[in-house]
Amino acid sequence: MANTGYDEWMAAIGDGEGYYLGCPDGHGSLPPRRTCPHCGASELTEEPLPETGEVVTFTEVHVPAPNFADEAPYVTAVVSFGAVKLTGVVRDMPNDEVELGTEVTADTDVNATTGEQLLVFRPADA
Ligand SMILES: [Zn+2]
Repeated sequence: MANTGYDEWMAAIGDGEGYYLGCPDGHGSLPPRRTCPHCGASELTEEPLPETGEVVTFTEVHVPAPNFADEAPYVTAVVSFGAVKLTGVVRDMPNDEVELGTEVTADTDVNATTGEQLLVFRPADA
């Protein structure tokens, strides 16, 4: 039974042990969840997150929200890891090299403004 919360999930990502919650029908979701958001199944199991994902949408942000003031300009991306999509900030590559289909890995880093844990993507071939 998957009972972990978002903080634990972020810690697992940072440790290179990322996972998602899978239901018997193969839907994917992210903690904290007790039921599948797609079909309502309550038997969620922790499935290993694929090592790399592909950028499916991205946006270069020049005028950031206040809690990202020290990050601008930066690129936020939605990355497909198969059953789940994650949203985060792209690190370790020039903003203009982020493209649809770019392969990245998920990691955590510290938000330069708030000091909070942040989901980030790094180039898969780095
Ligand atoms: Zn489901």
